[in-house]
Amino acid sequence: MELFRAAVFHTPDNPFHFPLGDRRELICHEDGGLLVRNGRVVACGSYADIRDANPGAATVDWRGGILLPGLIDAHVHFPQVRVIGAMGRTLLDWLDAVALPEESRMADVAYAEDTARFFLHALASHGTTTALVFGAHFAGATALLLEAAARSGLRIASGLVLSDRQLRPDLHTTPERAYRESTELIDRYHKRGRLLYAVTPRFAYSATESMLEVCQQLMTEHSDVRLQTHINENATEVAALARLFPWAADYLAIYERYQLSGNRSVMAHNVHATPSEIDRLAAAGTAVAHCPGSNAALGSGNFPLRRHVHAGVTCALGTDVGGGVGFGILKEGLQAYLMQRLAPDPQTLNAARLLYMATRAGAKALGLEAEIGDFKPGKAADFVYLRPPEGSVLDAVVRHAPDPAQALAAVFMLAGPESVREVRVEGDIVFAAGA
Ligand SMILES: [Zn+2]
Repeated sequence: MELFRAAVFHTPDNPFHFPLGDRRELICHEDGGLLVRNGRVVACGSYADIRDANPGAATVDWRGGILLPGLIDAHVHFPQVRVIGAMGRTLLDWLDAVALPEESRMADVAYAEDTARFFLHALASHGTTTALVFGAHFAGATALLLEAAARSGLRIASGLVLSDRQLRPDLHTTPERAYRESTELIDRYHKRGRLLYAVTPRFAYSATESMLEVCQQLMTEHSDVRLQTHINENATEVAALARLFPWAADYLAIYERYQLSGNRSVMAHNVHATPSEIDRLAAAGTAVAHCPGSNAALGSGNFPLRRHVHAGVTCALGTDVGGGVGFGILKEGLQAYLMQRLAPDPQTLNAARLLYMATRAGAKALGLEAEIGDFKPGKAADFVYLRPPEGSVLDAVVRHAPDPAQALAAVFMLAGPESVREVRVEGDIVFAAGA
């Protein structure tokens, strides 16, 4: 048994259910202990109490550091890691000019394998332990990602990206081939170790009705695979969808017709959602991946977070690399906070709410809330150990924070990968600084 000693934070209860600043919204143990046996959480609380009750446990002394549940990235594209940072474009022209040419390079398996390894290291080194990942448009490259993910120890849900119109021809497949290759990948990788398969229609814009039918069939034939896609990201895209699917009352109605909305689905963005769509997502249990960095970078718009929260839609955070601004889920939380400060109908955020969106909400979005997302006894010991570099601004602010919630707020404001010391999944080290 190992007893990790640090300041421990988690949000086992949804902080949006409490008034802002209510003491129940954030569990914090300033001199805390996290007791782990065989990769599972045995206890989380005050260090002294846990040590006294478990004299045989070996203490790992991380005093001065901070322990958070492993961060969860609910929307990220592995083939786009090398094209982060394009400026001045909007979604459809960014796809054509920046993202899709790079995604075409994944036809080269050596290039894809190198990209996959780099991508997974980038996740882990930023404290991300679980991610819902868009694979490639090529089955070979997607298989390489899943193989590398299995070796990495991270929890990865991913799948072959499916499109059969509107993109570059080399990224298109046929519904028949999409069905065959997806089925093979599901059989090989779904629930292998920590992997999950996610059926991945890129977005309705690049999928014919036959392709969406194939997605429906895959979801029906495999009762516990996940689904990921995009929705209501950009106003031009939404207008185009109305022309491509003239029978559909709105964007969500397209996915609904093929039974692709539900509690196994995570839809990214939903910036331009109608009130009806938000209500229907909530009723279906579909989660939304909120990607504020990408929404700002591509000028997509300001996410109506308050309306989603009010309706009861689970909103997790996604970095949306490479449309987004990097791999840091903590930074994504800060971006969510900043954009809501300027939103016309703002949702006030604080450290507890950001931590929830970065951990527990992501677990719920992926249907993994019984396994990960907080430090309740019995859950997997997925955690990130943060220690601000000595002499850094974050170090100074944390040391002088008047209370733990302020220290956690400073972590969201200031912590980058330089503060990530060690990352574990089910107790296994998946990243250690300097190793
Ligand atoms: Zn995306």
